[in-house]
Amino acid sequence: MKYHLDTIPVWDAYGANGECPLCLLEDQSEKSNISSFLGGSVMEPDVRIEVNKKGFCPRHNELLYNAQNRLGLALITHTHLLVTIKEMQQKADRLERDLRKPDKASVSLLGKIFGQQTTQKEAIHEFSDWMKQHRDHCIICDRIHDALNQYAYTILHLWEHNPEFRKTMTDSKGFCFSHLPLVLDMAAEHLSSKKQGDFLGDLLPLQSRNMERLEQELKWFTRKFDYRNQDKSWGNSRDALPRILQKLSGKRME
Ligand SMILES: [Zn+2]
Ligand SMILES: [Zn+2]
Repeated sequence: MKYHLDTIPVWDAYGANGECPLCLLEDQSEKSNISSFLGGSVMEPDVRIEVNKKGFCPRHNELLYNAQNRLGLALITHTHLLVTIKEMQQKADRLERDLRKPDKASVSLLGKIFGQQTTQKEAIHEFSDWMKQHRDHCIICDRIHDALNQYAYTILHLWEHNPEFRKTMTDSKGFCFSHLPLVLDMAAEHLSSKKQGDFLGDLLPLQSRNMERLEQELKWFTRKFDYRNQDKSWGNSRDALPRILQKLSGKRME
């Protein structure tokens, strides 16, 4: 995949100085996708075809529903439903055909050896797997995934070519457990082996330092519940719980 650079949103996300700049960029990408799918862009024919085929995952159906454009959502869901019904009918016909075939016990020895026969059990699993995949396919998830890859690539590029950014990154709070792997995988693919070492040399101490900071903040958060600490300052601990949960899960708590 070819990535382009998108530096301004990356600088802005680092400017916010949160627990993970990519969590912030993921939130922004999700919000702009939700409003765009309920706005005009979904009427473009190529977008419409993709929505009809993929639909939305449970999370994004819920966010779209809560965005209160019920007619817009009903229209795109209706055309997606027409495609879904057709595809499900084909899968159901195939399942019925497979169920009518003789079961494994009566399949010829040759058929068993060459694995030509789909057993009833396999046929049922195949149908239920199709349903699960269909439920989880999501054009918004795909778009967010692409956007995050672009941003991770931009972070690497800026780290490599812009000393000011390198310092900003080294002074930042690192990444969460969802987005650090994305950045590491991108580094493994796109940096030379010498630069991979330099990058990890910047990143890993930063990551450990910030996990330890969060541990201290969370510890003080729990101690503040002790009446003897009631009058002591919260320090940075007041919102330590949502921040550590974000660090561990990659989801900002609202
Ligand atoms: Zn994150
Ligand atoms: Zn989704």
